[in-house]
Amino acid sequence: MQYETVIGLEIHAQLLTKSKIFCGCSTKFGEKPNSQVCPVCLGMPGVLPVLNKKAIDFAIKTALATNCTVNEHSVFARKNYFYPDLPKNYQISQYELPLSVKGYIEVVLDGNIKKIGITRIHMEEDAGKNIHEGINDASHVDLNRTGVPLMEIVSEPDMRTPEEAVAYLKKLRDILRYLDVCDGNMEEGSFRCDANVSIRPLGQKEFGTKAELKNMNSFKFVQKALEYEIDRQREALEDGKKIIQETRLWDSNKGVTISMRSKEEAHDYRYFPEPDLVPLIVDKKWLEDIHSELPELPDAKRERFVKDYSLPEYDAEFLTSSIAMADYFEGCVKLHNQPKIVSNWIMGDLARLLNEDNLDIKDSPITPKKLTDMLKLMDKGIISGKIAKVVFEEMFKTGNDPDAIVQEKGLVQVTDESEIEKVIDEVIKANPGQLADYKAGKDKLFGFFVGQVMKESKGKANPAKVNELLKKKLSK
Ligand code: ADP
Ligand code: ZN
Ligand code: MG
Repeated sequence: MQYETVIGLEIHAQLLTKSKIFCGCSTKFGEKPNSQVCPVCLGMPGVLPVLNKKAIDFAIKTALATNCTVNEHSVFARKNYFYPDLPKNYQISQYELPLSVKGYIEVVLDGNIKKIGITRIHMEEDAGKNIHEGINDASHVDLNRTGVPLMEIVSEPDMRTPEEAVAYLKKLRDILRYLDVCDGNMEEGSFRCDANVSIRPLGQKEFGTKAELKNMNSFKFVQKALEYEIDRQREALEDGKKIIQETRLWDSNKGVTISMRSKEEAHDYRYFPEPDLVPLIVDKKWLEDIHSELPELPDAKRERFVKDYSLPEYDAEFLTSSIAMADYFEGCVKLHNQPKIVSNWIMGDLARLLNEDNLDIKDSPITPKKLTDMLKLMDKGIISGKIAKVVFEEMFKTGNDPDAIVQEKGLVQVTDESEIEKVIDEVIKANPGQLADYKAGKDKLFGFFVGQVMKESKGKANPAKVNELLKKKLSK
């Protein structure tokens, strides 16, 4: 039996406001435990929450950037449950009337664009953190995080593969970073993902029973947890078992998901409207103000890159993954109008080297000026494509100009025919067997001779010249 996977994601994104959502405490990460708290975020009796406007600004930005409708009227609600990291015993969230609904984002997969629906984006406050390791064999509670503003972004069950889920996550994170509303750091937990996944026989209309996966703090783990879970569900169904609706935890050490609680044990949160906050009214003027502050967003940029620079979707998607990346690319193209060649260098060698050193494009030792100066050396025939790779690595290592590197290392391309002929003669002499075979009709050996000449010249011989001269010599 063939099965189809269905995935929907719930994202919690911490907003980059300086202060918390209902009090003036700092949101700074990594400070001394319980040093950023006050009666409001500690949930003392008699205190009143005051809404942080900046947090709403950020959420509206996100809603507009993800094609959502912002509700003019939305309501905060209490979600009641008991847990040591939640001093009030309720979390202020939104339930029936969220800030915004019905949007979508686009992802590019194998060069094709797919729309993934967003059900809702609502506001809530974060809880504190229980710490179970390291101190006196006891559990401790750090409440610095209580009241940090969160956006919950709920997707439609529109994804069909783990790859699509990861592409959606990445795209959403890119958008939040473009807007500068969330740092998107999965490891530190400022961008958290719960993944709902089910399978159904191919062609069946109704969804299967879903499991909700938690505790994945990297894209790789989201991918792996989903893959594991899909296999688990398929094997269960093939064994004639029923999938039960449950929450499962990803164990990254064992590479498995483990049942945490079933639907029967699920909380009844007894939601009700928060009596201490008035309904949130977002009027036209507020929306327009935020709208006018939006930067050019990833999709618009991608479309523009495809159109203006004749780039494939894949390149355009890669180059617009961050504002800094896009600026770098456009900086290069301004200096040297060869978009596809520039794109190849950025996506290939530059991305690899940055990745190896864990560097952001903003901190690239190779500036757009240096990259394009190197391309100009290639255009002028001063260096070959092969040598350019060497120059590029050296630029990355030292930050030096390409001219200086070429001079210093003696990498200038050899175009002098007599010099190249000398190398060719040596190569032919050293390989009499291959020469005989070539003459006997083994045409493929031409490539062998080209390779040998390039090798002997340490990559410096002009490849076009090598081809031309070799043809002449070998036909004699
Ligand atoms: P719950 O009430 O259990 O929280 P929701 O209907 O609110 O469920 O959906 C939560 C998330 O799960 C959403 O992202 C939604 O797209 C996704 N989802 C819902 N049903 C399924 C399903 N059968 N398979 C996979 N994902 C689903
Ligand atoms: Zn506080
Ligand atoms: Mg839900």
